[in-house]
Amino acid sequence: MSVTSLPHVVVPALNFSDRVGVAGPDILLMHYTGVPTPEFAVEILTSGAREVSCHYLVRQDGGIVHMVDEDKRAWHAGKSSWEGEGDVNSRSVGIEICNPGHGDDYHDFPDAQIEAVIALSNDIVARHGIQPRHVLAHSDVAPGRKIDPGEKFPWARLASRGVGLWATPAAVADGPVLDKGASGTQVAQLQQNLAAYGYGIDVTGDYDTATATVVQAFQLHFRPQLCDGRADVSTVATLEALLAAHSA
Ligand SMILES: [Zn+2]
Repeated sequence: MSVTSLPHVVVPALNFSDRVGVAGPDILLMHYTGVPTPEFAVEILTSGAREVSCHYLVRQDGGIVHMVDEDKRAWHAGKSSWEGEGDVNSRSVGIEICNPGHGDDYHDFPDAQIEAVIALSNDIVARHGIQPRHVLAHSDVAPGRKIDPGEKFPWARLASRGVGLWATPAAVADGPVLDKGASGTQVAQLQQNLAAYGYGIDVTGDYDTATATVVQAFQLHFRPQLCDGRADVSTVATLEALLAAHSA
């Protein structure tokens, strides 16, 4: 039984399976629940009525619910890709963070909730030896399909407490922008850098819809001031800074 030693309640999920092809998890994946209440989220994630589940849920008041043993494969990532591997569920631990999500009620994550996420993440990362660059958003591994936990999630604060990799985003400013329809070596370099970080993207040299989608996913996590899928100077510089931190 692999589970956090932090205070928590247990609501066992019916849906889970064995991890495939890995010794243990090496990714920590963050989600928001996207529903109005924690009770409804726990019901969805544990009842088996839908083919979803997750290891943990963190309520807005900071309460932690444990649903799937960390040794098991929970069903939270769906169709996904990171570093060229498609079965992100097999290699990850998932945390669902209560927030109604994008729409009228998407709001800042409360302090108590984020403190609990940081404590839980530190605990998981330490026990499994998960690298900072492997603390990811659902949107990172499923661009275009998922946008959670979204631009309000305080990644910088998490990183300042040892959770995840972060490079201070370069300021948004006027300048040349790569956008849909662009092509050439600058586009290819951008795609190569995104792929080098782990995103599922082909290096084609053409700024197609798939590229814009991955750029927006990158922005949602690492340059949240403007998430428009256009590679402006700030986006390109922030990605380069992140890659430098990644290889440092
Ligand atoms: Zn999600």
